[in-house]
Amino acid sequence: MGDITITNALILPMTEEKKSFNGYVRVEGGAIAEVGAGASPQFRSEQFIDAAGAVLMPGLVNAHTHLYQVLLRAVWEDLPLMPWLKRIYGAAQALRPEHFYAGSLLGCIEAIRSGVTTVCEHNFLNPDPQCAFETVRAIRESGLRAVFARTIMDTGEIVPECTKEKPEVAFGRIESILAQHKGSENLTFMTGPNTPPINTTPALLKEIRRFADVNGIGISAHVAESKSVVECVRQQHGKKGVVEFLQQFGIPGHNSIFAHSVHVSEDEIAILKETGSSVSHNPVSNMMLGDGVAPVVEMLRQEVNVALGTDGAASNHSQDLFDTMKSASLLQKVHHQNAGVIKPYDVLRMATVGGAKALGLGSVCGTIEAGKRADLIVVDLETIHAQPINDVYSQIVHCAKAADVQTVIVNGEVLMKDRELARHDEGRLLADARRVNIDLMQRVNALVF
Ligand SMILES: [Zn+2]
Repeated sequence: MGDITITNALILPMTEEKKSFNGYVRVEGGAIAEVGAGASPQFRSEQFIDAAGAVLMPGLVNAHTHLYQVLLRAVWEDLPLMPWLKRIYGAAQALRPEHFYAGSLLGCIEAIRSGVTTVCEHNFLNPDPQCAFETVRAIRESGLRAVFARTIMDTGEIVPECTKEKPEVAFGRIESILAQHKGSENLTFMTGPNTPPINTTPALLKEIRRFADVNGIGISAHVAESKSVVECVRQQHGKKGVVEFLQQFGIPGHNSIFAHSVHVSEDEIAILKETGSSVSHNPVSNMMLGDGVAPVVEMLRQEVNVALGTDGAASNHSQDLFDTMKSASLLQKVHHQNAGVIKPYDVLRMATVGGAKALGLGSVCGTIEAGKRADLIVVDLETIHAQPINDVYSQIVHCAKAADVQTVIVNGEVLMKDRELARHDEGRLLADARRVNIDLMQRVNALVF
């Protein structure tokens, strides 16, 4: 892996509030070797990147998505949650491993183009065990850092039989994925109940924590996304909320990430804090599906670790985390009717440091510090929509756009330089995705919901 020196950058290290300085970063062997202010000393790097007029910051962390869903953008819109979910789950009957591969690769490339260097793929539809393997193959080919969260469903009215699994069968399949990718540098794993309790039995929930601990992996779950899920735990399990319900199975924990957490009480926020659980806030998806507003300000006040996610493109339309950052900021301001309720730094922190911590990568990425892996992005600020710069944190959150991302480096490898992809031929990739999508749409249109 070649050494890289990035010079003339406005650096946002994300190590402390408001800190920014002009300087350089030297990358050696995939790690950040040196971060300095001012002009760069004369290094003998193999590659120099001049970041004049741009910000150098940690790559963004998309803490919750379903990559293949880029093939399902705008397919089912304007539906209430349950009819929408019925279609999303029902799609399992049409989805084949090749759809997962092409869709996931396209999703990864969209992520790279929007400055994401780490994704957490919450994998929940497995009509064929190969679907998970093909998703992982696409992620690895993209060069992104990733957490593959292979979740399990064993019950549920809207879950097609082809994607329900007996816990012991699912655990065996997950073990085979873990064995195949053991020691992969940019890839770690999680498991989890997909959306408890509507598609998981108590018997499965009892086993999940044990399985995660035995294998040294974390837990990812959709938690309290809608009021209907909370109603379900109240009526069927006699608990006041989903977090409280999950606590009896030991699901909350320092290596657990709960996507959404929209309908959680103050008491449940306290449980999240006590157990060290993280939350992935997915504001665009929550707005698109009409779920409600997650109590992000309250969670931050209680020092719960909050990350940001796009969620799948079926409920977001994109994998653009800049879009998500701006939405996260505006949604809390309008919800609280208070413009000062959340700061741009808080939002950017969720999209970097918070995401890394939530995915067990706090010591690996999320900040620009010597010793961490070099997951870095260069964002052009010499643009009509960003100039002049008065508050760089606010302007990254509120002005910058995915298309402003010039250069993306993951683990010291340049995946995009001056908006040119290094590993992939974008034209060919798009053609492949369109071809596969024609087949998928024919199969989806034959389904009856
Ligand atoms: Zn999701």
